[in-house]
Amino acid sequence: VGEIDIKDVVRIFENPDSKGEDIVALNKLSLIVQPGKFVSLIGPSGCGKSTLLRLIAGLDIPNEGEIFLDGNKIVKPSYERGFAFQAANLFPWLTIRENIAFGLRARHEYKKKKDDVDEYINLVGLKGFEKAYPHQVSGGMCQRASLARALVGHPKVLLLDEPLGALDAFTRMNMQDELLRIWEEHKMTMIMVTHDVDEAIYLSDQVVVMSPRPAKIEKIIDIDLSRP
Ligand code: ADP
Ligand code: ADP
Repeated sequence: VGEIDIKDVVRIFENPDSKGEDIVALNKLSLIVQPGKFVSLIGPSGCGKSTLLRLIAGLDIPNEGEIFLDGNKIVKPSYERGFAFQAANLFPWLTIRENIAFGLRARHEYKKKKDDVDEYINLVGLKGFEKAYPHQVSGGMCQRASLARALVGHPKVLLLDEPLGALDAFTRMNMQDELLRIWEEHKMTMIMVTHDVDEAIYLSDQVVVMSPRPAKIEKIIDIDLSRP
């Protein structure tokens, strides 16, 4: 499970400059992501990568076309599809731990899965910072909290928008290996936007290269998975 089927998706934004032409971010884009694959999306800035990820998350709706998860049309966000944001998007009035546990509480699963929260706090290296508020820790730590928040609900699909972008090189390398470990353990479908081609090749078994706006799939590169 965890197949994503993107069918002829069009997303057009109104131009913030009222005299400007509408912005066609995605024009009839189609892509199938096989269950359990780790797919990276790369392409020039502004080509529509985040837009595509937000549509898969159900945070935005296409003007035309449809997206399916295991045959079910995506119409709104769901915990089946965890999303780790580039800008972390934590609630500033909640502690790191409360942020990570937020989805579980909303689903009334917190009591049952309390230990999972601690497991993921450890996994992303935030032990000792549970009671801090987002503004009290670094940007990289907020990104790691965002990752833990997406993972703790055991989603079928994990959507990652430059999840490691704000990390220093050392933490980044560790987190790359953690991501691989999590992926191999949970067998979830991963779709990651990154600007780092080496990272895309190291982590994913398929690299989807997008062309400049309106985004088309330029090519799909299968990576030989003979990882060390
Ligand atoms: P990428 O993630 O590849 O950098 P985005 O998906 O963020 O690209 O953006 C694709 C295009 O759509 C850009 O030209 C961007 O300015 C535009 N865009 C994205 N979101 C909006 C929005 N809410 N309103 C207007 N334009 C938008
Ligand atoms: P990141 O790589 O996540 O951006 P930094 O490089 O800013 O993190 O921080 C490196 C280390 O410094 C952290 O792992 C943490 O141990 C410590 N640190 C960062 N922010 C704080 C803080 N607000 N209070 C105490 N220690 C901190």
